[in-house]
Amino acid sequence: MKFDNIIIGGGLSGLTCGIKLAEQGKKCAIVSSGQSAIHFFSGSFDLLGKLNGQEVKNPLEAIKTLPDAHPYQRVGIKNIARLAVEAPQLLDRAGLQFSGKSDQNHFVLTPMGIMKPTWLTIDDFTRFEQNDVFPWKKAVILNFSGFLDFHTLFVQDGLKKYDVDVQIKNFAMKEFEAIRRNPSEMRSTNIAKVFDQGEDVLNEFAQKVNQLSEGFEVVILPAVFGLFTKNVVTDLKSMINKPLVLIPAIPPSVPGIRSQILLRKRFEELGGTYFLGDIVEEGTFKNNRLVAVQTNNHGNIKLEADQFVLASGSFYSKGIVATRDKLYEPILGLDIDGDIDSEKWLDEKFFNDQPYMHYGVKTDSGFRALKNGKPIENLFAAGSVLGGANALKEGSGAGISLLTSLHVAEQILK
Ligand SMILES: Cc1cc2nc3c(=O)[nH]c(=O)nc-3n(C[C@H](O)[C@H](O)[C@H](O)COP(=O)(O)OP(=O)(O)OC[C@H]3O[C@@H](n4cnc5c(N)ncnc54)[C@H](O)[C@@H]3O)c2cc1C
Repeated sequence: MKFDNIIIGGGLSGLTCGIKLAEQGKKCAIVSSGQSAIHFFSGSFDLLGKLNGQEVKNPLEAIKTLPDAHPYQRVGIKNIARLAVEAPQLLDRAGLQFSGKSDQNHFVLTPMGIMKPTWLTIDDFTRFEQNDVFPWKKAVILNFSGFLDFHTLFVQDGLKKYDVDVQIKNFAMKEFEAIRRNPSEMRSTNIAKVFDQGEDVLNEFAQKVNQLSEGFEVVILPAVFGLFTKNVVTDLKSMINKPLVLIPAIPPSVPGIRSQILLRKRFEELGGTYFLGDIVEEGTFKNNRLVAVQTNNHGNIKLEADQFVLASGSFYSKGIVATRDKLYEPILGLDIDGDIDSEKWLDEKFFNDQPYMHYGVKTDSGFRALKNGKPIENLFAAGSVLGGANALKEGSGAGISLLTSLHVAEQILK
């Protein structure tokens, strides 16, 4: 089977790279073994939230001071500024409305009830312009009886710092009785499916919310609405007669799964082929080029392409693997940007910047992956498989994934 481009990995970077290539008419395939970090999505994409332990106000300015090896520096500051405008537009074409500015972080309320700086927030959630003010003084947190994945006490406790008087109320509805009988069924996706069944449940729910929130200025609910379409969220907001603040629940994330579904749909509508549940096992190299990959489901049928993109994620998705004494890229045996000596992987102080978090696939300046010290001409790496940043510590995860994937797509389209 022959394609123009094959992308290994169908998370945020693989999908956005694929969409950009398919929008330009490329015949593109994505092979993805399964779940990605989007399933754990908080509702916001970070560009740069922290630098040297300090909160960043203007990510575009702060990016200029990052080390040369950082993926943003390698993409180039001007390119980052341009692609940071393009990224939300691409998401919008997929039906995902995000808002935010790359030169000014805003804040979102976390499940711990504290304000966190971020770049783009999906419109299910509320954006705050200041991190020291919650605009309402009397709030009610409503939760579904038996739903253990929303930690209301943390939110209540966190909001005390902003001088908010918060009450927690649990409520039951007959429509949730079937899933409530088994605590492992009472998960955010199953609650969302009940609301997806029709308007009656949502109407009844909204009435209940309006009754329970009498005397309060704002309603806080877990983000369990709109698994397949965001209409449920929009409808709910219009039915509730108070401002509504949604807070992410424990994963699986409902807005995350919706985002994954909509990105995949957009890719397929553009003519892309998405091989879900297939694992790329190895590659065939010839004259410093990757000519084909072999996958679990396709057996002897090789998948060939002119260019390949490795977007297989970091440790969490097994894009990079560490055993007791070995650090490696498991699919194509690519070079790793990281310490060989396993003694150097960890800092003994847990909260310090952990060296291993900076490790990833080594590339040249054009994001071509290196194998045995040489760049593979037609193999690019994008997203969290790249080294050079501690995305968790600096709050840059989705920014790196989105912007390196769009940059790599541009290299291919040149
Ligand atoms: C749990 C978690 C939650 C996060 N939440 C946020 C957040 O809310 N906001 C934020 O800004 N950042 C967040 N991040 C940072 C995150 O790294 C990025 O946001 C981004 O989603 C990563 O995308 P990716 O495509 O590079 O990698 P991934 O999302 O990890 O996707 C890699 C994909 O490659 C597939 N794959 C791996 N090996 C193979 C193979 N051999 N064959 C085929 N497919 C393969 C995997 O199955 C997976 O689908 C989170 C990270 C993690 C780990």
